[in-house]
Amino acid sequence: MFFYISEYFKSNIMKNVTILGSTGTIGENTLNVIAGFPSKFNVFALTANKSIEKLYRQVLDWRPRYAVLSCTNSAKILSDKLKSHSAIKTEVIGGPESLQFVAAHEETDYVMAAIVGGAGLLSSMSAARHGKRILLANKESLVMSGELFMNEVKNSGSQLLPIDSEHNAIFQCLPFDYGSPKSSSSASITKLILTGSGGPFLNTSAEKLSDISVEQACNHPNWVMGQKISIDSATMMNKGLEIIEACHLYDMPSEKVEVVIHPQSIIHSMVEYIDGSVLAQLGTPDMKIPIAYGLGWPERICSGAEFLDFYRMKSLTFEKPDYEKFKCLTYAREAYRQGGVYPAILNASNEVAVESFIENKVKFTHIPEIIDCALNSCSFEYDSTINSILRADFECRKYLKEQIGGKKWSI
Ligand code: NAD
Ligand code: MG
Repeated sequence: MFFYISEYFKSNIMKNVTILGSTGTIGENTLNVIAGFPSKFNVFALTANKSIEKLYRQVLDWRPRYAVLSCTNSAKILSDKLKSHSAIKTEVIGGPESLQFVAAHEETDYVMAAIVGGAGLLSSMSAARHGKRILLANKESLVMSGELFMNEVKNSGSQLLPIDSEHNAIFQCLPFDYGSPKSSSSASITKLILTGSGGPFLNTSAEKLSDISVEQACNHPNWVMGQKISIDSATMMNKGLEIIEACHLYDMPSEKVEVVIHPQSIIHSMVEYIDGSVLAQLGTPDMKIPIAYGLGWPERICSGAEFLDFYRMKSLTFEKPDYEKFKCLTYAREAYRQGGVYPAILNASNEVAVESFIENKVKFTHIPEIIDCALNSCSFEYDSTINSILRADFECRKYLKEQIGGKKWSI
């Protein structure tokens, strides 16, 4: 990753922020942080998929230049609703390509990429191509297209700031010149240590997992998150996606990315150095901390999160992940090792499996089975273009949708 600090100090003026996925958990937390800095950040564009009512309220509160709904019918409804507010000049636009338009807009300075899933790929990529500061929460886009995404960032001079709490923690623990062309600091790093709470089923026996309900899977012990990432945490696919994310962000071989279970979610991740030192970032489990870090970098700004109280904290514990029980971790490592379109197949099959679980079409334990089947059955050519990634994503989803509900996977 390349960071040009002098550039930042040259232009310490009001920044226009586009929030892709503003109605989600990360989007709302971003607005909460921004609310504390009316002279530093201006909300330029807000986007959602179909949540008309939530976006309507956000438009009334923030009066952005653009409001985007990727569903065109929903955009029409929002536009009609806003007609009675003559003081509001927000332009409402619709369709998936509008996401790319606001991400690339010449007046956008910062893009919070917080759409969930592969649906965020093209808009995140568009921000990368147009040299924006990208606050990357949408890990799926990096998993799908890692090498291409990182090339766009390098070629355009984008600043890529990870918002995922683990990668943000690692960013904070790395040497300041890490990744710059003249630096040799990467040689001093022996390991990146990703911590993970282990999710709601850390201590549930493997036999009991087949009866898990959507509500139980979404009941994360420490974090409040959207439905998809909550289920990914329950299967530990979230940690699998994060291994791949870390490899791309920090140009690390996957063998040097270790997962450690830390049920209290106080240490958000660590970097181990050649001299035996380990640097860690700690904090309460609140996404406003990494979001504020990304918005303020290289300064630190108030996040509004609660501070740690060491005297209330009983203990910090650590254990090895159970790769047998949480097979998604193994599948993610394997997909990354195979490279090409395999990480995109991993992601697409996980999204289809999670959606099917939410819709009560398959059991919780079918999720890893579906992913395993996709990785073994789907094989598409990768020619280092985004089109080959999109094709693999599309074909894999189509294949699995035909299978689900059949003899193999049904309730
Ligand atoms: P969420 O489900 O709460 O919100 C998702 C947002 O994406 C909503 O605004 C929704 O309207 C939008 N969206 C969904 N489908 C879309 C589509 N097809 N087109 C356009 N927009 C669409 O999700 P979240 O928890 O805020 O997570 C967002 C991203 O951040 C995910 O990639 C997740 O992995 C990552 N992340 C989240 C957390 C967390 O604590 N929530 C932590 C780390 C990383
Ligand atoms: Mg995370």
